[in-house]
Amino acid sequence: MITPKTPLIQFRKLDKKKKDALERLGLFTLQDLLFYFPNKYNDFSTISKISQIKPGQNYTIKGKILSINNIRTPRKRMIITEAIITDDSGSAKVIWFNQPYLQNTFQPGTEVILNGKVERKYNGLQITSPVYEKYKTNSLHAGRIVPEYPETYNITSKWIRFFLNPLLKNVNLIKDFLPENIKKSQNLIDLPEALEQIHFPENNEKLNLARKRLSFAELFLIQLDAQIKRRDWQQNKAKKFKFNQKLIKNFVEKLPFKLTDDQKKTAWDILKDLERDKPMARLLEGDVGSGKTVVAAIATLQVAHLKSQVALMAPTEILARQHYHSFLELFKNTNIKIGLLTRVDNILDSRFKSPLRRPADEAWTQNSKVKNKHNKFLNFIKQGKVNIIIGTHALIQKDVKFKNLGLVIIDEQHRFGVNQRAELKKVNQSKFTPHLLSMTATPIPRTLSLAIYGDLDISIIREKPLGRKEILTKIVAPENRSKAYDFINRKVKEGRQVFVICPRIESQDNKITPEPASSADRQNNKKMSLWDDVKAVLDEYEKLSKKIFPDLKIGLLHGKLKKDEKEKVMSDFATNKINILVSTSVVEVGVDIPNAIIMMIEDAEKFGLAQLHQFRGRVGRGEHQSFCFLFSESPNFISIKRLSTLTRTNDGFKLAEMDLKLRGPGEVYGQKQSGLPDLKMASLTDYATLKKARSEAEKLLKIDSDLKNYSLLKNELAKFKSAVHLE
Ligand code: ADP
Ligand code: MG
Repeated sequence: MITPKTPLIQFRKLDKKKKDALERLGLFTLQDLLFYFPNKYNDFSTISKISQIKPGQNYTIKGKILSINNIRTPRKRMIITEAIITDDSGSAKVIWFNQPYLQNTFQPGTEVILNGKVERKYNGLQITSPVYEKYKTNSLHAGRIVPEYPETYNITSKWIRFFLNPLLKNVNLIKDFLPENIKKSQNLIDLPEALEQIHFPENNEKLNLARKRLSFAELFLIQLDAQIKRRDWQQNKAKKFKFNQKLIKNFVEKLPFKLTDDQKKTAWDILKDLERDKPMARLLEGDVGSGKTVVAAIATLQVAHLKSQVALMAPTEILARQHYHSFLELFKNTNIKIGLLTRVDNILDSRFKSPLRRPADEAWTQNSKVKNKHNKFLNFIKQGKVNIIIGTHALIQKDVKFKNLGLVIIDEQHRFGVNQRAELKKVNQSKFTPHLLSMTATPIPRTLSLAIYGDLDISIIREKPLGRKEILTKIVAPENRSKAYDFINRKVKEGRQVFVICPRIESQDNKITPEPASSADRQNNKKMSLWDDVKAVLDEYEKLSKKIFPDLKIGLLHGKLKKDEKEKVMSDFATNKINILVSTSVVEVGVDIPNAIIMMIEDAEKFGLAQLHQFRGRVGRGEHQSFCFLFSESPNFISIKRLSTLTRTNDGFKLAEMDLKLRGPGEVYGQKQSGLPDLKMASLTDYATLKKARSEAEKLLKIDSDLKNYSLLKNELAKFKSAVHLE
């Protein structure tokens, strides 16, 4: 009996090569193959008369083979098959290279369909290497809209068509998981029909219906998953923190600056969430320098004032320390107690009677003195004596227990998964689930955020604080390079600092090659990219420190350094022991070094706009005018045009939107890092369909919150989640 799970080898004898190749594509069963979608189509459905074909264009023609012969070319030792094809309007010459067997396949008199480009040769028109097929009423490879599949070694698109087509008669074995009423209200065709039409569309209209159905289903599953996560999170109980107007007003009035309208609005969103007994799950999105920290501080104040604890987590130790110092400053007029906890710091602020300070060089060991301090610190947290605990992610993973954690703030992490959210509950001794605020400086356009962050509420800070100096951005032509170096030299002599970024060549996989390859190897193997990155940055470092700026201190940062080494370089840069920092794109997010005023980017055309904008955000944080220099050695018109948008706008959201249009979400945000689901059919930026999918998901969960009556859908959701890495 045939089922969707029937192995492909049962349908056709497959040699080992084919079987391996299919497995490489993840194709084991009937169902796998039916869901292996074409990546494009060639519309060969219009058949032309031979008398009408013209040189320079592609045509599909149908006719009889009049003659066919193999010819061996003397010089190139190639076999050319020459045929004459005729229909009732005329005849044309066709040639193929190195396929001598065609002489047997297409004996004179055979009716064939061909598709290919027509060329003018000295003795008339000729079609060279066309796609071909014997004519049948239901043709597979020509004379129709022909699917093209992603190919792999030993498997061609043509072979997949030939293998798959007869299997399509089994599509009805695939059960449709979409509820009938949703299909009805969204005008969607059934799954079996969609599968048939996506592979061998009868016409363009049917193809579009199939696409519509299949993409809706994907976006629907994403939205369903998000809604369920959201509901599950909200079923937890959180502590309510009643808005204390006097407290907040007082705090805001004492700030050295006036809040922007967006800061006020986002703070208000958060304060309202905190008043509810459902835990907040909010993302605060704001470009670098938009002032997210103070918004987080307002929420912190409200919670800490009511004697609950707040944890603030940063991705690196340097950032954690930076936040610690900002918070000390922001809360200096309060009696809120702040602690810093990282691998090397156990610092309690000086308002404690016995401030605890583990010097940074007393690294974490089994040393009993150090251990005692650490334990004392943990006890303080456990007893609720520390109100705000700032640290790295280790905060919620290690041996830390909180007395009553009311709010968790996560800085610079795109995605805080459901698993991690569960951790939050475990580290808390109180019966309540803490409210959760994530912050990110990566602008995600609205069109995309619905797809990625469907389970979160979003607040956006768009406007920058007043009086911020624009960063002057310039594209530097190769002939002006030395001028730029002179400028940098001058600025460093004035005491300022400089970043130099070298491009990162995106690796295909994350393999780390143990040894740097010889340059010949490197040219042969694109996978050497991590070493290429290091090589590029090392070359640049050599060049700058030996030739260009021999009297300046140059630092080096790349992904192959150990964590400690990286932190050391960054802190040397932060304390101006290094004048120029040469780095791959790993340069830390969010680090605030106000004295660094020049961002110089090599081979800028290799980066996306959004990423260039992120780099640029490393400067422009102090009182001095800042600059961003984009170098491009092989500039062409298009890349210059693209780069020039950076010279015109400082709006990260605008740039992200443009980038998204130009390159697509996977390229812009990185498929893996950002947790973007890897979809087969739908586009994550298809906002209209996303909205419909979301509203259908909401409606369905309202009537059947556990999908009890939709077991097919429930299964599909589980399958989908593991296939597209949603967690
Ligand atoms: P980010 O959003 O990148 O985390 P920060 O919170 O670090 O930005 O803020 C960047 C700088 O801007 C800080 O020095 C902060 O004190 C300052 N700042 C924040 N809000 C304002 C404002 N409304 N007016 C002026 N300066 C502000
Ligand atoms: Mg920040």
